[in-house]
Amino acid sequence: MVSRRRIFLFITLLYAGAGLICSGAETSVTAHPAVESYLRDRLTFWKDRLKLEAWSVTLTIAGPNDLRPGTLGNIHWDPDKKTAVIRVLSSAGTQDDIADMECTIVHELIHLEFASMPRTDESRIAEEVAVNNIADALLQQQRLLKTASIKP
Ligand SMILES: [Zn+2]
Repeated sequence: MVSRRRIFLFITLLYAGAGLICSGAETSVTAHPAVESYLRDRLTFWKDRLKLEAWSVTLTIAGPNDLRPGTLGNIHWDPDKKTAVIRVLSSAGTQDDIADMECTIVHELIHLEFASMPRTDESRIAEEVAVNNIADALLQQQRLLKTASIKP
């Protein structure tokens, strides 16, 4: 789960470290089909990058009433079937909003990496910190690679 509080910290870290990757987002009810298509492509990219090929992961754009208040997304998985559904809060569709939605996808996919590990209330807190740090590192690295690739 990505909470607004954590994503804003995450955003601040990214902004300070590697330029704008994520930013705050106003929400709306649906995403443009082109945005959904882009995000599904990014889901495939990050799923491959995280070596989660064994999992079938579905992306759902969610309205604010579909998620716990104050959250930007969540993930539910079935370890036996190796299926998962990521819900990402829809946004107004600006470039920054879409980047935020991608951040949420990466965050939730990293939770999937921990799916087989035992959980306690304490470990959930530690997992959330680890997930945020790993997502931060991955997205910063990807941003740096993108920036480097467009230079002459
Ligand atoms: Zn989380």
